[in-house]
This record gives sequence, C-alpha cells and structure tokens, in this order.
Amino acid sequence: MPNASDSDSASAEEVSLDGGCACGAVRYRLEEKPYDSGWCHCRVCQHVSGSGGMVFTTVHLDRYRILASEEHIERFASTSFGTRSFCRKCGSPLTIHLRHQADEIDIAAGTLDDPEEIAPAFHLYTAEAPSWMPMIAFLPRYKALRPKTRGLDEGVTEAG
Ligand SMILES: [Zn+2]
Ligand SMILES: [Zn+2]
Repeated sequence: MPNASDSDSASAEEVSLDGGCACGAVRYRLEEKPYDSGWCHCRVCQHVSGSGGMVFTTVHLDRYRILASEEHIERFASTSFGTRSFCRKCGSPLTIHLRHQADEIDIAAGTLDDPEEIAPAFHLYTAEAPSWMPMIAFLPRYKALRPKTRGLDEGVTEAG
C-alpha cells in the first residue's frame, strides 16, 4: 500500500482509482495510473457490451484489487487467449486477462467511477466493427491487434 511519507515522489503508486459494476456488488481499486487505453471492436466486445465495442485500460495485475466481492465475479474464456470477468448479478463486464500479457489486466473503462480518468488512444479490431460504429478521427486504427503488442512477436496482430 502507498505510504503517506512517499507523497513527495508523486509516483504512479500514489494513484488510486475505484470502480465497480452497475449493481454495486463488485467494487475494485486500481493502485496505479492505468495505461494503454484502447477501444476494441472485436465481436466478443460487441456481444459483451451489446454495442459496437468497448474501451479498456490496463494496469499490472498486482495493482488490481477486488474490494467486493470475489463471490459475485464470474469468469469465462472468451477466446483461446483471453478470460473475461463480469458481475454475476448485473452482468457488467469487468476485465480481460490475456495469456500473452499474464502480468497485466485490462479493465472495462466504463466501470470506473470516473470514466474521464482515461481516454482511448487507439482503435482495435476495426475489421470487425459494424459500419455504423463511429471512430475518433485522429486516433490510429488497427484491423486487429497492434503490430507491437506486448507479449506477442513484433508484427503479429492475432493472438491464439
Ligand atoms: Zn453487479
Ligand atoms: Zn474486443
């Protein structure tokens, strides 16, 4: 846990962002500033969100803390390389844990108490996006994953 005596360092470890599901059964805390926020348009994100995609942001796995409560969290393998979690009471999507980024976790940004804390910096899986999906004009767009995805060989844009 951050120590008050370290406050002068203004390190990322001082950051603490909370979030949770729609019904309140699940609450979590991010104990570092999230990074690498992207808007994913893959078909799984479309199913899970019921829309044209989902924005995720990332923290290190050991900086993601479930405050309440593990018993309300369900997980399923959404692809051969990723496991998603959601609230079993209200269905809110919560996280993706990817095999090629085992020490990190992607957080569904809309579940942050203040979604303004992050902003997407790129679009992913645009090849799967429906034609009516608006995209932010100045952001880079990738047909699948980025060619420099952490945990994958350079140039590889598909996992699994
Ligand atoms: Zn819930
Ligand atoms: Zn996706």
